[in-house]
Amino acid sequence: MNTIYLDNSATTPLSDAARRALQEVADIYGNPSSLHREGLAAEAVLTRARKQVASALGVSNPAPGQLIFTACGTEANNTAILGTAYAKARRDANRIVTTDSEHPSVEQVMKRLEQDGFEVIRIPTRGGVLDREAAMAALNEKTLLVSMMLVNNETGARYELEPIFAEAKRRNPTVITHCDAVQGFLKCRFTARSLGADLISISGHKIHAPKGVGALYVDPALIRSKRIVPYLIGGGQESGLRSGTENMLGIAAFGAAAEDGAAQLERHLSHMSALRDYTIACLREKGFVLNLPQGPCAPHIVNFQLPAIKSETMLHFLSAQGICVSSGSACSSHAKQTSPSLSAFGLTAAQADTSLRISLSPYNTAEEIDTFIETLSRGAGTLVRMRRH
Ligand code: PLP
Repeated sequence: MNTIYLDNSATTPLSDAARRALQEVADIYGNPSSLHREGLAAEAVLTRARKQVASALGVSNPAPGQLIFTACGTEANNTAILGTAYAKARRDANRIVTTDSEHPSVEQVMKRLEQDGFEVIRIPTRGGVLDREAAMAALNEKTLLVSMMLVNNETGARYELEPIFAEAKRRNPTVITHCDAVQGFLKCRFTARSLGADLISISGHKIHAPKGVGALYVDPALIRSKRIVPYLIGGGQESGLRSGTENMLGIAAFGAAAEDGAAQLERHLSHMSALRDYTIACLREKGFVLNLPQGPCAPHIVNFQLPAIKSETMLHFLSAQGICVSSGSACSSHAKQTSPSLSAFGLTAAQADTSLRISLSPYNTAEEIDTFIETLSRGAGTLVRMRRH
């Protein structure tokens, strides 16, 4: 049975470009910090990948520290938030402004900071739209950091962060702006400059690179003014901002996947958008209720409700038919609690518990969607009948 993989927000299969890069560098075993020829060969791989990833963020020649490799998006988020909060550059400022639907790798860090005395303001994102007025009102002279996600991993809502980041900077140029762009990277058109974020988190395995590699874009002014301190301390790799010997294979593949994804961005976006529109139309025709954001959306996520069937039950039914979907974000699907993102969206616990997410990649096809819709409808009929008996 062929797999139909519709869970690309959880993780993605390797692209050909990433696989080729892995093979090419498999025998380059040097430590990029070593000064001998094997070290230099590894350093060249690292420099190339850094340029490739930075370029996909619109940065052509990254300065030292401007793009640091991490182990994942989670580490990039932790580094950005804890690194700026604990830099204590402004002793009077302890307010952090975020949203009420962040990924746990941001939300759990916020909880930790609250325990440590920081004030965290969570801006509502009801209906998938960031409350701009509430965000503007939360920006005051005590604001240290504004940390907001670009694309919500469960609903696909694309939050309009640019005016908020710009206003935060206008009111106080020393306010730090961070964007968790893990779900938005190569799914939305943006650059580090257009976004106006000092810090941007991205992750390799969401863009067809292997798991175990991520990156954090860091505005050079932040480094110069020492408004960020390292989170992982040790040998001083990654310009001192992230110690630990680099994951060379993962990084090389990340670079190649980012370069390939950026080169094909327009084609990929139009393919995913068309497929998303098609999926939405098919789901509507079959009578499913869609959890559609009321504002801008990323082109790869569709979230919808099942008729009185727990999403996990349907997930297992589909999986047995070779179709992979999600009943929440992969990380939180282990947690037996109502998805905070879907609650923030405005769903009741019952609606959230019957909600299913599919997430597309540029490699999915309309035929796969047809099979998915047909299997889903069959599953809904069977499972509802079983419930009645
Ligand atoms: N941020 C968002 C919005 C995500 O969707 C994810 C993963 O699902 C992460 C951060 C964490 O990324 P990683 O799995 O690379 O740690």
